[in-house]
Amino acid sequence: MYSGGLPMTEKVEQLIQQYPLLNKMREYQPIDWHNPEFEEATKLSLTQADVFDASARFNRFAPYFVKAFPETEATNGILRSPLIKIDQMQQKLEQVNGADIPGSVYLKADSMLPISGSIKSRGGIYEVLKFAEQVAMKETNLTYSDNYSILASPKYHEIFSHYGIMVGSTGNLGLSIGMAAASFGFKTTVHMSVDARQWKKDLLRKNGVTVVEHDDSVSVAIADGRAQAAKDPQTYFIDDEGSKDLFLGYSVAGIEVQKQLEDLGIFPSKESPVFVYLPAGVGGSPSGVSFGLQMMMPEGIYPVFVEPTHVPSVTMGMMTHLYDQIAVTDLGLDGKTLADGLAVPRSSKIAGRIMRSLLYGSHTFDDDDIYRYLTMLIDTQDIRVEPSAAAGFSAIKSTVAQFEHPEKLKNATHIVWATGGKLVPSDEMKRYYDKGEGLMRELQQSVSR
Ligand SMILES: *Cc1c(COP(=O)(O)O)cnc(C)c1O
Repeated sequence: MYSGGLPMTEKVEQLIQQYPLLNKMREYQPIDWHNPEFEEATKLSLTQADVFDASARFNRFAPYFVKAFPETEATNGILRSPLIKIDQMQQKLEQVNGADIPGSVYLKADSMLPISGSIKSRGGIYEVLKFAEQVAMKETNLTYSDNYSILASPKYHEIFSHYGIMVGSTGNLGLSIGMAAASFGFKTTVHMSVDARQWKKDLLRKNGVTVVEHDDSVSVAIADGRAQAAKDPQTYFIDDEGSKDLFLGYSVAGIEVQKQLEDLGIFPSKESPVFVYLPAGVGGSPSGVSFGLQMMMPEGIYPVFVEPTHVPSVTMGMMTHLYDQIAVTDLGLDGKTLADGLAVPRSSKIAGRIMRSLLYGSHTFDDDDIYRYLTMLIDTQDIRVEPSAAAGFSAIKSTVAQFEHPEKLKNATHIVWATGGKLVPSDEMKRYYDKGEGLMRELQQSVSR
Protein backbone atom coordinates (compact mmCIF):
# COMPACT_ATOMS: atom_id res chain seq x y z
CA MET A 1 0.00 0.00 0.00
CA TYR A 2 1.11 3.50 -0.79
CA SER A 3 1.71 5.20 2.53
CA GLY A 4 2.65 8.75 1.53
CA GLY A 5 0.72 11.90 2.36
CA LEU A 6 -1.96 11.95 -0.34
CA PRO A 7 -4.83 9.52 -0.89
CA MET A 8 -3.81 7.04 -3.60
CA THR A 9 -6.12 8.32 -6.37
CA GLU A 10 -4.83 11.88 -6.06
CA LYS A 11 -1.30 10.59 -5.82
CA VAL A 12 -1.78 8.59 -9.02
CA GLU A 13 -3.11 11.64 -10.90
CA GLN A 14 -0.08 13.58 -9.75
CA LEU A 15 2.26 10.76 -10.81
CA ILE A 16 0.69 10.65 -14.26
CA GLN A 17 1.39 14.38 -14.69
CA GLN A 18 4.97 13.75 -13.71
CA TYR A 19 5.49 10.50 -15.66
CA PRO A 20 3.31 10.65 -18.80
CA LEU A 21 4.25 7.08 -19.81
CA LEU A 22 1.93 5.94 -17.03
CA ASN A 23 -0.94 7.08 -19.24
CA LYS A 24 -0.08 4.48 -21.86
CA MET A 25 0.58 1.89 -19.18
CA ARG A 26 -2.84 2.57 -17.70
CA GLU A 27 -4.33 1.62 -21.09
CA TYR A 28 -2.33 -1.63 -21.31
CA GLN A 29 -0.21 -0.30 -24.18
CA PRO A 30 3.31 -1.68 -24.61
CA ILE A 31 5.93 0.87 -23.59
CA ASP A 32 9.69 1.32 -23.52
CA TRP A 33 11.08 3.18 -20.57
CA HIS A 34 14.61 4.51 -20.54
CA ASN A 35 16.00 4.84 -17.03
CA PRO A 36 17.32 8.42 -16.72
CA GLU A 37 19.50 7.40 -13.78
CA PHE A 38 21.35 4.61 -15.61
CA GLU A 39 25.10 4.80 -14.90
CA GLU A 40 24.80 7.59 -12.35
CA ALA A 41 27.49 7.23 -9.73
CA THR A 42 25.94 5.70 -6.62
CA LYS A 43 27.13 3.77 -3.63
CA LEU A 44 25.58 0.30 -3.70
CA SER A 45 24.62 -1.52 -0.52
CA LEU A 46 26.08 -4.80 -1.84
CA THR A 47 29.46 -5.39 -3.46
CA GLN A 48 31.42 -7.81 -5.62
CA ALA A 49 32.62 -9.47 -2.39
CA ASP A 50 29.01 -10.48 -1.66
CA VAL A 51 28.81 -12.15 -5.08
CA PHE A 52 32.01 -14.10 -4.40
CA ASP A 53 30.73 -15.11 -0.97
CA ALA A 54 27.57 -16.54 -2.54
CA SER A 55 29.58 -18.30 -5.22
CA ALA A 56 31.85 -19.90 -2.60
CA ARG A 57 28.81 -21.21 -0.74
CA PHE A 58 27.42 -22.82 -3.91
CA ASN A 59 30.85 -24.41 -4.42
CA ARG A 60 30.93 -25.83 -0.88
CA PHE A 61 27.62 -27.51 -1.59
CA ALA A 62 28.68 -28.99 -4.93
CA PRO A 63 29.46 -32.42 -3.41
CA TYR A 64 26.04 -32.37 -1.73
CA PHE A 65 24.31 -31.76 -5.07
CA VAL A 66 26.18 -34.60 -6.76
CA LYS A 67 24.89 -36.92 -4.06
CA ALA A 68 21.34 -35.58 -3.62
CA PHE A 69 20.64 -34.69 -7.27
CA PRO A 70 22.51 -37.06 -9.61
CA GLU A 71 21.50 -34.91 -12.60
CA THR A 72 24.17 -32.43 -11.38
CA GLU A 73 26.96 -35.01 -11.73
CA ALA A 74 27.81 -33.86 -15.26
CA THR A 75 28.80 -30.41 -13.94
CA ASN A 76 30.36 -31.74 -10.72
CA GLY A 77 27.51 -30.36 -8.63
CA ILE A 78 27.66 -26.84 -10.01
CA LEU A 79 24.28 -25.45 -11.04
CA ARG A 80 24.87 -23.76 -14.35
CA SER A 81 23.26 -23.34 -17.75
CA PRO A 82 24.48 -23.00 -21.33
CA LEU A 83 24.75 -19.77 -23.31
CA ILE A 84 23.55 -20.70 -26.78
CA LYS A 85 23.99 -18.76 -30.02
CA ILE A 86 20.64 -18.77 -31.76
CA ASP A 87 21.25 -17.64 -35.35
CA GLN A 88 18.13 -19.22 -36.85
CA MET A 89 15.96 -17.55 -34.22
CA GLN A 90 17.70 -14.25 -34.93
CA GLN A 91 16.87 -14.58 -38.63
CA LYS A 92 13.28 -15.45 -37.85
CA LEU A 93 12.98 -12.46 -35.53
CA GLU A 94 14.41 -10.14 -38.18
CA GLN A 95 11.87 -11.47 -40.65
CA VAL A 96 8.92 -11.13 -38.25
CA ASN A 97 10.04 -7.74 -36.92
CA GLY A 98 10.76 -6.46 -40.39
CA ALA A 99 14.02 -5.06 -39.04
CA ASP A 100 17.65 -6.13 -38.73
CA ILE A 101 19.09 -7.06 -35.37
CA PRO A 102 22.67 -5.82 -35.53
CA GLY A 103 25.09 -8.01 -33.56
CA SER A 104 24.49 -11.56 -32.32
CA VAL A 105 21.66 -13.09 -30.33
CA TYR A 106 22.25 -15.64 -27.56
CA LEU A 107 19.91 -17.52 -25.26
CA LYS A 108 20.96 -17.95 -21.64
CA ALA A 109 19.18 -21.22 -21.05
CA ASP A 110 18.32 -21.17 -17.35
CA SER A 111 15.35 -23.16 -18.60
CA MET A 112 17.81 -26.08 -18.51
CA LEU A 113 19.12 -25.54 -14.98
CA PRO A 114 19.06 -28.66 -12.80
CA ILE A 115 16.48 -29.26 -10.05
CA SER A 116 13.79 -26.67 -10.91
CA GLY A 117 14.43 -26.11 -14.61
CA SER A 118 14.27 -22.39 -13.95
CA ILE A 119 16.24 -19.37 -12.81
CA LYS A 120 14.93 -20.12 -9.30
CA SER A 121 17.59 -22.82 -9.02
CA ARG A 122 19.89 -19.87 -8.42
CA GLY A 123 18.22 -17.63 -5.83
CA GLY A 124 15.74 -20.00 -4.24
CA ILE A 125 18.14 -22.85 -3.76
CA TYR A 126 20.90 -20.55 -2.57
CA GLU A 127 18.84 -19.36 0.37
CA VAL A 128 18.02 -22.94 1.34
CA LEU A 129 21.75 -23.73 1.30
CA LYS A 130 22.52 -20.78 3.49
CA PHE A 131 19.93 -21.85 6.06
CA ALA A 132 21.02 -25.51 5.96
CA GLU A 133 24.63 -24.47 6.55
CA GLN A 134 23.63 -22.31 9.51
CA VAL A 135 21.60 -25.09 11.09
CA ALA A 136 24.34 -27.67 10.51
CA MET A 137 26.96 -25.42 12.10
CA LYS A 138 24.76 -24.68 15.06
CA GLU A 139 23.79 -28.30 15.70
CA THR A 140 27.02 -30.11 14.77
CA ASN A 141 30.73 -29.48 14.35
CA LEU A 142 30.54 -29.02 10.57
CA THR A 143 33.27 -26.70 9.27
CA TYR A 144 33.56 -24.75 6.03
CA SER A 145 36.23 -27.08 4.73
CA ASP A 146 34.30 -30.32 5.25
CA ASN A 147 32.98 -32.31 2.33
CA TYR A 148 29.32 -31.28 2.38
CA SER A 149 28.15 -34.57 0.88
CA ILE A 150 27.77 -35.68 4.51
CA LEU A 151 24.78 -33.36 4.71
CA ALA A 152 22.94 -35.95 2.64
CA SER A 153 23.35 -38.53 5.42
CA PRO A 154 20.52 -39.82 7.66
CA LYS A 155 22.13 -38.08 10.64
CA TYR A 156 21.75 -34.66 9.09
CA HIS A 157 18.37 -35.48 7.61
CA GLU A 158 17.18 -36.12 11.17
CA ILE A 159 18.63 -32.83 12.41
CA PHE A 160 17.06 -30.85 9.56
CA SER A 161 13.68 -32.50 10.13
CA HIS A 162 13.26 -30.42 13.29
CA TYR A 163 13.33 -27.26 11.19
CA GLY A 164 10.88 -25.86 8.68
CA ILE A 165 11.16 -23.77 5.53
CA MET A 166 8.26 -21.76 4.17
CA VAL A 167 7.79 -19.66 1.02
CA GLY A 168 5.09 -17.93 -1.05
CA SER A 169 5.33 -18.24 -4.83
CA THR A 170 3.67 -18.12 -8.27
CA GLY A 171 5.21 -21.54 -8.94
CA ASN A 172 8.89 -21.78 -9.79
CA LEU A 173 10.29 -20.32 -6.58
CA GLY A 174 8.12 -22.75 -4.62
CA LEU A 175 9.28 -25.54 -6.88
CA SER A 176 12.99 -24.87 -6.45
CA ILE A 177 12.83 -24.21 -2.73
CA GLY A 178 10.49 -27.13 -2.17
CA MET A 179 12.71 -29.61 -4.02
CA ALA A 180 15.92 -28.38 -2.39
CA ALA A 181 14.52 -28.05 1.13
CA ALA A 182 12.82 -31.45 1.01
CA SER A 183 16.10 -33.06 -0.09
CA PHE A 184 17.73 -31.93 3.17
CA GLY A 185 14.76 -33.18 5.20
CA PHE A 186 13.31 -29.80 6.19
CA LYS A 187 9.57 -29.66 6.85
CA THR A 188 8.66 -27.64 3.81
CA THR A 189 5.54 -25.60 3.10
CA VAL A 190 4.89 -23.70 -0.12
CA HIS A 191 2.11 -21.11 -0.35
CA MET A 192 1.05 -21.00 -4.00
CA SER A 193 -0.77 -18.09 -5.66
CA VAL A 194 -3.80 -18.58 -7.91
CA ASP A 195 -1.49 -18.43 -10.96
CA ALA A 196 0.54 -21.52 -10.03
CA ARG A 197 0.28 -24.39 -12.51
CA GLN A 198 -1.19 -27.65 -11.31
CA TRP A 199 1.80 -29.79 -12.34
CA LYS A 200 4.12 -27.74 -10.13
CA LYS A 201 1.89 -28.38 -7.10
CA ASP A 202 1.61 -32.07 -7.96
CA LEU A 203 5.37 -32.45 -8.29
CA LEU A 204 5.98 -30.81 -4.92
CA ARG A 205 3.40 -32.96 -3.15
CA LYS A 206 5.00 -36.04 -4.68
CA ASN A 207 8.25 -34.93 -3.02
CA GLY A 208 6.69 -34.62 0.40
CA VAL A 209 6.19 -30.84 0.36
CA THR A 210 3.04 -29.31 1.89
CA VAL A 211 1.33 -27.08 -0.68
CA VAL A 212 -1.14 -24.44 0.50
CA GLU A 213 -3.25 -23.10 -2.36
CA HIS A 214 -4.39 -19.48 -2.36
CA ASP A 215 -7.18 -18.13 -4.49
CA ASP A 216 -5.35 -14.82 -4.69
CA SER A 217 -2.22 -13.06 -5.97
CA VAL A 218 1.29 -13.94 -4.89
CA SER A 219 1.45 -10.87 -2.64
CA VAL A 220 -1.28 -12.47 -0.52
CA ALA A 221 0.35 -15.92 -0.62
CA ILE A 222 3.61 -14.38 0.59
CA ALA A 223 1.93 -12.41 3.37
CA ASP A 224 0.16 -15.54 4.59
CA GLY A 225 3.32 -17.63 4.53
CA ARG A 226 5.21 -14.93 6.37
CA ALA A 227 2.54 -14.76 9.09
CA GLN A 228 2.43 -18.56 9.50
CA ALA A 229 6.20 -18.86 9.71
CA ALA A 230 6.39 -16.10 12.32
CA LYS A 231 4.47 -18.33 14.72
CA ASP A 232 7.19 -21.00 14.77
CA PRO A 233 10.77 -20.10 15.74
CA GLN A 234 12.09 -23.28 14.05
CA THR A 235 10.57 -22.26 10.71
CA TYR A 236 12.51 -20.07 8.32
CA PHE A 237 10.61 -17.91 5.86
CA ILE A 238 12.15 -17.16 2.47
CA ASP A 239 10.85 -13.74 1.52
CA ASP A 240 10.69 -13.11 -2.23
CA GLU A 241 9.70 -9.50 -1.52
CA GLY A 242 12.84 -8.50 0.29
CA SER A 243 15.48 -11.19 0.70
CA LYS A 244 19.10 -10.20 0.23
CA ASP A 245 20.14 -13.86 0.06
CA LEU A 246 17.78 -14.67 -2.80
CA PHE A 247 19.19 -11.66 -4.62
CA LEU A 248 22.79 -12.78 -4.09
CA GLY A 249 22.00 -16.32 -5.19
CA TYR A 250 20.91 -14.93 -8.56
CA SER A 251 23.97 -12.70 -8.78
CA VAL A 252 26.35 -15.67 -9.08
CA ALA A 253 25.19 -15.90 -12.71
CA GLY A 254 27.47 -12.90 -13.31
CA ILE A 255 30.57 -14.98 -12.64
CA GLU A 256 29.28 -17.78 -14.85
CA VAL A 257 28.43 -15.52 -17.80
CA GLN A 258 31.68 -13.57 -17.61
CA LYS A 259 33.53 -16.81 -18.35
CA GLN A 260 31.07 -17.90 -21.03
CA LEU A 261 31.48 -14.56 -22.81
CA GLU A 262 35.24 -14.70 -22.51
CA ASP A 263 35.25 -18.15 -24.09
CA LEU A 264 33.36 -16.62 -27.01
CA GLY A 265 35.82 -13.73 -27.27
CA ILE A 266 33.18 -11.26 -26.07
CA PHE A 267 34.39 -8.51 -23.73
CA PRO A 268 31.59 -6.08 -22.85
CA SER A 269 32.50 -2.41 -23.19
CA LYS A 270 31.03 0.85 -24.42
CA GLU A 271 32.22 -0.20 -27.89
CA SER A 272 30.81 -3.73 -27.62
CA PRO A 273 27.56 -3.39 -25.68
CA VAL A 274 25.94 -6.48 -24.19
CA PHE A 275 22.17 -6.18 -23.83
CA VAL A 276 20.57 -8.57 -21.38
CA TYR A 277 16.81 -9.03 -21.61
CA LEU A 278 15.34 -10.29 -18.35
CA PRO A 279 11.69 -11.07 -17.52
CA ALA A 280 10.71 -9.40 -14.24
CA GLY A 281 8.11 -10.61 -11.76
CA VAL A 282 8.87 -9.31 -8.29
CA GLY A 283 12.17 -8.08 -9.74
CA GLY A 284 14.50 -10.23 -7.64
CA SER A 285 15.93 -12.55 -10.28
CA PRO A 286 16.48 -9.96 -13.03
CA SER A 287 18.02 -7.54 -10.52
CA GLY A 288 20.26 -10.12 -8.91
CA VAL A 289 21.50 -11.32 -12.30
CA SER A 290 22.08 -7.77 -13.58
CA PHE A 291 23.89 -6.83 -10.41
CA GLY A 292 26.14 -9.88 -10.65
CA LEU A 293 26.94 -9.18 -14.31
CA GLN A 294 27.74 -5.56 -13.55
CA MET A 295 29.90 -6.42 -10.54
CA MET A 296 31.97 -8.73 -12.75
CA MET A 297 31.91 -6.57 -15.88
CA PRO A 298 31.60 -2.94 -14.80
CA GLU A 299 31.27 -1.54 -18.31
CA GLY A 300 29.10 -2.40 -21.28
CA ILE A 301 26.27 -4.38 -19.64
CA TYR A 302 22.81 -2.98 -20.50
CA PRO A 303 20.07 -4.76 -18.53
CA VAL A 304 16.53 -4.44 -19.90
CA PHE A 305 13.63 -5.68 -17.78
CA VAL A 306 10.62 -7.13 -19.54
CA GLU A 307 7.11 -7.21 -18.05
CA PRO A 308 3.53 -7.89 -19.16
CA THR A 309 1.46 -4.80 -20.04
CA HIS A 310 -1.01 -5.96 -17.38
CA VAL A 311 1.61 -6.28 -14.62
CA PRO A 312 4.39 -3.69 -15.04
CA SER A 313 5.07 -3.57 -11.30
CA VAL A 314 8.86 -3.23 -11.34
CA THR A 315 8.82 -0.60 -14.12
CA MET A 316 6.20 1.44 -12.25
CA GLY A 317 8.06 1.19 -8.98
CA MET A 318 11.38 2.26 -10.49
CA MET A 319 9.99 5.01 -12.70
CA THR A 320 8.16 6.67 -9.80
CA HIS A 321 10.77 5.81 -7.14
CA LEU A 322 7.95 4.38 -5.08
CA TYR A 323 9.27 0.81 -5.54
CA ASP A 324 7.19 -1.56 -3.37
CA GLN A 325 5.01 1.33 -2.22
CA ILE A 326 2.89 1.18 -5.35
CA ALA A 327 1.06 -1.75 -6.95
CA VAL A 328 -0.27 -2.13 -10.49
CA THR A 329 -3.81 -2.11 -9.11
CA ASP A 330 -3.20 1.45 -7.89
CA LEU A 331 -2.99 2.43 -11.56
CA GLY A 332 -6.24 0.56 -12.20
CA LEU A 333 -4.56 -2.42 -13.92
CA ASP A 334 -6.03 -5.89 -13.44
CA GLY A 335 -2.66 -7.63 -12.87
CA LYS A 336 -3.69 -10.57 -15.07
CA THR A 337 -1.21 -12.38 -17.30
CA LEU A 338 -0.67 -15.86 -18.69
CA ALA A 339 3.04 -15.42 -17.95
CA ASP A 340 2.59 -16.97 -14.52
CA GLY A 341 6.19 -16.26 -13.43
CA LEU A 342 5.58 -12.55 -13.96
CA ALA A 343 2.17 -12.24 -12.25
CA VAL A 344 3.44 -10.13 -9.36
CA PRO A 345 1.42 -6.94 -8.72
CA ARG A 346 3.92 -5.31 -6.37
CA SER A 347 7.68 -5.25 -6.72
CA SER A 348 10.36 -6.32 -4.26
CA LYS A 349 11.44 -3.96 -1.49
CA ILE A 350 15.13 -4.18 -2.35
CA ALA A 351 15.56 -5.09 -6.01
CA GLY A 352 14.41 -1.84 -7.61
CA ARG A 353 16.32 0.29 -5.15
CA ILE A 354 19.58 -1.52 -5.90
CA MET A 355 18.87 -1.28 -9.65
CA ARG A 356 18.29 2.48 -9.53
CA SER A 357 21.50 3.28 -11.43
CA LEU A 358 22.09 -0.20 -12.91
CA LEU A 359 18.96 -0.72 -15.03
CA TYR A 360 19.22 0.53 -18.60
CA GLY A 361 15.50 0.39 -19.29
CA SER A 362 12.38 -1.70 -19.46
CA HIS A 363 9.81 -2.90 -21.97
CA THR A 364 6.27 -4.19 -21.64
CA PHE A 365 4.63 -6.77 -23.92
CA ASP A 366 1.24 -8.23 -24.81
CA ASP A 367 0.79 -11.81 -23.65
CA ASP A 368 0.13 -13.00 -27.23
CA ASP A 369 3.69 -12.05 -28.22
CA ILE A 370 5.38 -14.47 -25.85
CA TYR A 371 3.48 -17.46 -27.24
CA ARG A 372 4.63 -16.53 -30.74
CA TYR A 373 8.25 -16.36 -29.56
CA LEU A 374 7.90 -19.64 -27.68
CA THR A 375 6.73 -21.34 -30.88
CA MET A 376 9.39 -19.66 -33.05
CA LEU A 377 12.11 -20.82 -30.68
CA ILE A 378 10.95 -24.43 -30.97
CA ASP A 379 10.63 -24.20 -34.77
CA THR A 380 14.03 -22.58 -35.32
CA GLN A 381 16.22 -23.98 -32.54
CA ASP A 382 14.27 -26.88 -31.04
CA ILE A 383 14.50 -25.27 -27.58
CA ARG A 384 11.52 -25.36 -25.21
CA VAL A 385 10.89 -22.61 -22.69
CA GLU A 386 7.84 -21.61 -20.68
CA PRO A 387 5.80 -18.54 -21.70
CA SER A 388 7.35 -16.14 -19.15
CA ALA A 389 10.80 -17.21 -20.30
CA ALA A 390 10.19 -16.13 -23.91
CA ALA A 391 9.42 -12.54 -22.87
CA GLY A 392 12.93 -11.22 -23.51
CA PHE A 393 12.52 -11.55 -27.29
CA SER A 394 9.81 -8.89 -27.24
CA ALA A 395 12.25 -6.19 -26.14
CA ILE A 396 15.02 -6.50 -28.74
CA LYS A 397 13.43 -4.55 -31.59
CA SER A 398 12.60 -1.39 -29.65
CA THR A 399 15.82 -1.48 -27.63
CA VAL A 400 17.87 -1.57 -30.82
CA ALA A 401 15.75 1.13 -32.48
CA GLN A 402 16.16 3.51 -29.54
CA PHE A 403 19.79 2.90 -28.59
CA GLU A 404 21.69 6.21 -28.33
CA HIS A 405 24.81 4.90 -30.09
CA PRO A 406 23.57 3.08 -33.21
CA GLU A 407 27.08 2.96 -34.66
CA LYS A 408 28.13 0.59 -31.87
CA LEU A 409 25.34 -1.90 -32.45
CA LYS A 410 27.25 -3.90 -35.05
CA ASN A 411 29.42 -5.15 -32.16
CA ALA A 412 26.42 -5.79 -29.90
CA THR A 413 25.58 -9.01 -28.11
CA HIS A 414 21.96 -9.64 -27.17
CA ILE A 415 21.36 -12.14 -24.39
CA VAL A 416 17.77 -13.26 -23.97
CA TRP A 417 17.47 -14.79 -20.51
CA ALA A 418 15.27 -17.89 -20.81
CA THR A 419 14.13 -18.15 -17.22
CA GLY A 420 12.39 -21.51 -17.16
CA GLY A 421 10.83 -24.47 -18.90
CA LYS A 422 12.65 -27.79 -18.59
CA LEU A 423 10.11 -29.37 -16.28
CA VAL A 424 6.97 -28.28 -18.16
CA PRO A 425 5.06 -31.50 -19.01
CA SER A 426 5.05 -32.23 -22.73
CA ASP A 427 1.26 -32.02 -23.14
CA GLU A 428 1.28 -28.56 -21.56
CA MET A 429 4.18 -27.52 -23.78
CA LYS A 430 2.22 -28.74 -26.79
CA ARG A 431 -0.69 -26.48 -25.82
CA TYR A 432 1.66 -23.49 -25.55
CA TYR A 433 3.16 -24.35 -28.93
CA ASP A 434 -0.23 -24.71 -30.61
CA LYS A 435 -1.38 -21.42 -29.19
CA GLY A 436 1.72 -19.67 -30.48
CA GLU A 437 1.35 -21.29 -33.88
CA GLY A 438 -2.25 -20.12 -34.17
CA LEU A 439 -1.24 -16.59 -33.21
CA MET A 440 1.56 -16.59 -35.80
CA ARG A 441 -0.91 -17.63 -38.49
CA GLU A 442 -3.28 -14.82 -37.50
CA LEU A 443 -0.43 -12.35 -37.68
CA GLN A 444 0.63 -13.54 -41.14
CA GLN A 445 -2.95 -13.35 -42.43
CA SER A 446 -3.39 -9.81 -41.12
CA VAL A 447 -0.11 -8.78 -42.74
CA SER A 448 -0.97 -10.30 -46.13
CA ARG A 449 -4.46 -8.80 -46.19
C1 LIG B 1 10.43 -16.09 -11.16
C2 LIG B 1 10.46 -16.04 -12.62
C3 LIG B 1 10.69 -14.85 -13.30
C4 LIG B 1 10.85 -13.51 -12.61
O1 LIG B 1 11.67 -13.47 -11.47
P1 LIG B 1 11.38 -12.46 -10.29
O2 LIG B 1 12.42 -12.67 -9.28
O3 LIG B 1 10.00 -12.75 -9.76
O4 LIG B 1 11.39 -11.09 -10.90
C5 LIG B 1 10.72 -14.90 -14.68
N1 LIG B 1 10.53 -16.06 -15.35
C6 LIG B 1 10.30 -17.22 -14.73
C7 LIG B 1 10.12 -18.46 -15.54
C8 LIG B 1 10.26 -17.25 -13.34
O5 LIG B 1 10.03 -18.41 -12.73
